Amino acid sequence: MGKQHHKLHCEICNWTRVTDSEQLGLYEVKRSKIQGRIPYLDENNKTVVPKFKKQPPKYRCPKCGRGMKATKVPNPQEKIDRYHQEKAAEEQRKEWEALEEEARKRYEKVKEEYEKEQRELDGY
Ligand SMILES: [Zn+2]
Repeated sequence: MGKQHHKLHCEICNWTRVTDSEQLGLYEVKRSKIQGRIPYLDENNKTVVPKFKKQPPKYRCPKCGRGMKATKVPNPQEKIDRYHQEKAAEEQRKEWEALEEEARKRYEKVKEEYEKEQRELDGY
């Protein structure tokens, strides 16, 4: 299991990088928290101020200096591992299918021979 990876992508200049969070090393743009809902009154007529939501972190693009978002992406190594696992499973499946097919053909042949024999016997 690896660290959470992030993909940084600047929509302005197309600078892109996939990195794990510890290695970002980029200037994080301070963002104010946003309110999820407007304050409302509860059953006792008391004003309830909903919790503020933290916004996703924003980083300054090292190329053009604009703010860009970091999006979570699966660990590339996990993706590679999964790919190899799936490929191995696929090969295993094909192998089994080939064995099954072979067994089926063998069975068909035996059945055919048996039926032929039966027909010949019936002929007598
Ligand atoms: Zn940029």
